[in-house]
Amino acid sequence: LLADQLRVDLDEVEEDIIDWLERQAVRCYHGCRTDDAGTYFRQGLRVHRREEQEAAVRQLVESDARLRWMLPGLADTFAKFPSTTDEHRCFVVLDDRALLDRAAHYLIYGSEWICAVLGRGSRGPLLERGVPTMIEVDLPLMWTSFGQREALASLLLREWTRQVAQRPRQVLVVDFTFTMHHDLPPEVVTGHYHPTEMEDPLEGSSLYRPPGDSCLHCRADVG
Ligand SMILES: [Zn+2]
Repeated sequence: LLADQLRVDLDEVEEDIIDWLERQAVRCYHGCRTDDAGTYFRQGLRVHRREEQEAAVRQLVESDARLRWMLPGLADTFAKFPSTTDEHRCFVVLDDRALLDRAAHYLIYGSEWICAVLGRGSRGPLLERGVPTMIEVDLPLMWTSFGQREALASLLLREWTRQVAQRPRQVLVVDFTFTMHHDLPPEVVTGHYHPTEMEDPLEGSSLYRPPGDSCLHCRADVG
């Protein structure tokens, strides 16, 4: 009976947190490779649009002598790589540490789809453009689904319990992604930074150190 009562009480606490979360914004992160984080401050975070991704690959292949051999077969190559799981979606994560630890390929190579289309033998040129960038987004949780807020409330409650019970040295590293179905406007893009080392999950977790740690936006700020 006591256990049942405790569960009811905890459910109520969780429901209160879910309601409270709907009125909050949460700091999230989006990993990318860009030469100008300013595009995110001006355009926001845009959902995956297949035609834009194809145009970006075409432009890259046309402008790089090492890739030009791909040009005649490009339409066939595109057909082999559907992007239905990405189309009209964008992704932000709760914990940038998890992104750097486990999925840094978004920062090292940029678009996962473009990286896949080029293939292992031809993705090298992606490393010569832009720098790994973490875009900071303050995501209003009213834009997320009830299910996502429910999962976040459950996570917060569990982590709070762990903090109280075990007093660990740091906050749990969590793999938690918000899948968004619309563009996020520039108003919610609040900052960015450039990590200086990360493990490359596509190259056996070898250490990757980017050649630079600033973008056009950083350099414009400096003056
Ligand atoms: Zn920058």
